[in-house]
Amino acid sequence: MVNIQKLKYKESLKDKCGIFGIYGKGQDVARISFFGLYSLQHRGQEGAGITVTDGKCFKSVKGLGLVSSVFNEEKINSLKGFASIGHTRYSTTGGNKLCNVQPVVLDLKDDNFALAHNGNIINAMDLAHELPPDVKLSSTSDTEIMGWVIKNSTGKNWEEKILTSFNKFQGAFSMIVLTKNKLIAFRDTYGFRPLVLGKLNKSYIACSETCALDTVGAKFIREVAPGEIVVIDERGIQTVGKVKSTKKSFCLFEYVYLARPDSVFNKQLVHLVRQRSGEILAHESPVGADMVVAVPDSGTSAAIGYSKASGIPYGEVLIKNRYIGRTFIQPEQHIRDMGVRIKFNPLKEIVNGKRIIIVDDSIVRGTTMKKIVKMLRNCGAKKVHIRVCSPPVTDPCYFGIDTPDKNKLIASHMNVKQIEKFIGADSLAYLSLEGLKKASRVNPNQLCTSCFDGKYPMPVQGGFRKDVFETII
Ligand code: AMP
Repeated sequence: MVNIQKLKYKESLKDKCGIFGIYGKGQDVARISFFGLYSLQHRGQEGAGITVTDGKCFKSVKGLGLVSSVFNEEKINSLKGFASIGHTRYSTTGGNKLCNVQPVVLDLKDDNFALAHNGNIINAMDLAHELPPDVKLSSTSDTEIMGWVIKNSTGKNWEEKILTSFNKFQGAFSMIVLTKNKLIAFRDTYGFRPLVLGKLNKSYIACSETCALDTVGAKFIREVAPGEIVVIDERGIQTVGKVKSTKKSFCLFEYVYLARPDSVFNKQLVHLVRQRSGEILAHESPVGADMVVAVPDSGTSAAIGYSKASGIPYGEVLIKNRYIGRTFIQPEQHIRDMGVRIKFNPLKEIVNGKRIIIVDDSIVRGTTMKKIVKMLRNCGAKKVHIRVCSPPVTDPCYFGIDTPDKNKLIASHMNVKQIEKFIGADSLAYLSLEGLKKASRVNPNQLCTSCFDGKYPMPVQGGFRKDVFETII
């Protein structure tokens, strides 16, 4: 148990997660959730869990690691019910503990309540201190605090309680909650993180990305609007609350890196946004070369666009080991370093003697690109030009993406020329923010661009990340 009075902030853990919920009488909801989570694996690889209800009790299976290692046939079969929610978790140092794997279940005996959250609220500790003293937290996640705040709010049912507590939460939350007999999905008024709705025969689904709907064979219905609360039960999907959204701020980085290329947000297919960003970058920063290559898979769509617009042929040069996962996911720097080496193997014969343009979605710390450039040079590349299909990442995210602290972001303390030198490239160019916004085709006033320009859509307490905390021992 975590003693609320002894909580203190800890500036490391943040969540960039995938969530999936289904209401479907007569369906194997746990198995569908499993496949849904499987397709959202890219949003979090450190832990996964599914909670189901049979109308009387909840049952959960949770564990650390990939969806495929947490679940097996026996575990999926043990999850019987007609509605379920699931979560894939991504955190950094300190947060990778079983107690923080979601769904978070509030054990309320006759009225259980479980939450699956993507995002980050920035006032979690303030809210924790307002909770009644008898509340005992079992995790160190902001999600559990949100659960208790909702539980202690006024309202004759869960949806009313969610509505009354809604404005207390500052930050990003795309949330699916499970009660004894229904799902409730809601999204903060800024709409930072995605949340979409779909239909599978007579079942209804809420989840992070449309790729999960495609995977389970469901049809996309629409997105949950910023500030909207929907109930999903046997009657289908009903809006039960709308909190006024004064400023929309969809995360531009979802298009750059986080989302899968086959997902659609704001009617824009992520792959095409990335491809357009590559095309725009080719116009903004042309350079002569023999071939355009991608850092797979994050840079592939953009590299195709760069090649198309520049007329320089696209080719494969880096062969990725698809089983090692995202190197970024590893909290420790030395493990990340090793990860880059075992993740990509270059095709030496193709690289040798060529002028290469290497395209990636983003540079964060600079570790990956530096190693890739070195690998290509060792293979005999004549020139290595880097083109990055997003602007320099200068500021940390407080709203649910895991970017490191500001001082670890290479672009926070080096200009483009210095980064070029650090990485060892013949040239380096980033896409302009204007170019990226244009590629997204989303109203530029409705995008969160804070990681690129430090303009946060709400005050972030002087840069102090108030999203997580730990117990003082
Ligand atoms: P680095 O510059 O070495 O820190 O890593 C940059 C690479 O990590 C880019 O190629 C991106 O594809 C990927 N990346 C960017 N942001 C994130 C994130 N929040 N989580 C995981 N990987 C990321």
